[in-house]
Amino acid sequence: MPLKAILFDLDNTLLLYSEKQFYHDYIAGLYIHFRDVLSPDEFYDRMMSATRVMVDNDGSQTNLALFLETFSSGLNESGEQLMQRFNSYYENEFQRFEKLMIPVTGVAELFASLKRKGLKTVIATNPMFPMTVQKLKLSWAGLDGFEMTLITSVENSCFCKPNILYYESICQKVEVAPEDCLMVGNDALNDMIASRLGMNTYLATDGEQLSLELSHSLAAKDETDLPVPDFSGLLTDLPKLINKLTRANG
Ligand SMILES: [Mg+2]
Repeated sequence: MPLKAILFDLDNTLLLYSEKQFYHDYIAGLYIHFRDVLSPDEFYDRMMSATRVMVDNDGSQTNLALFLETFSSGLNESGEQLMQRFNSYYENEFQRFEKLMIPVTGVAELFASLKRKGLKTVIATNPMFPMTVQKLKLSWAGLDGFEMTLITSVENSCFCKPNILYYESICQKVEVAPEDCLMVGNDALNDMIASRLGMNTYLATDGEQLSLELSHSLAAKDETDLPVPDFSGLLTDLPKLINKLTRANG
């Protein structure tokens, strides 16, 4: 395989934090912006159902359009008005989560070396958050200003992980065949599923203790069916593997 692109998951791959704590605080903080129109339970239920529908997006519209359509169903407010509530939170308050975040050592150096090798770099983070949030998290990871080939976000994506079509659409956008990609991520299902498309996979173990068990429990009903990663290890072990793979490029 000529290695041409490296895809990276973000949460608990490039940036470590307790997802349980984050989602607890995130939902609580976001609710404040909806308390004049929804009860806490109604808000939570709408968030959950709109997220579930978004995970099953069939590609006919963006994740954002589908999320807003589902979330606003039966409400007296347009998707645009709702979006203003979300944006106000993301733009003014999301910054506070920086204190939960632990950057992984060596990330900036890793990306600089990928650039030197002429490899395409994709931030293949589950596209459920807006680009403003993805870029903020990347800056917390030490990648402020690094020019990525593609960052997936709720606005530019029409599929979610673990749908294989999410990975296929990335290949189309960056014009690289799946066989020429390496997907790096911490999630045994959401990230390693890329192997079903023919991508090479690297299970990153830095964030092992901090990730949500959500996708594991989804997969638990058929644990034997989990994709087997081609490689696994810490992010600091990745440059060695990439050197080996790019040497094989000739
Ligand atoms: Mg992750």
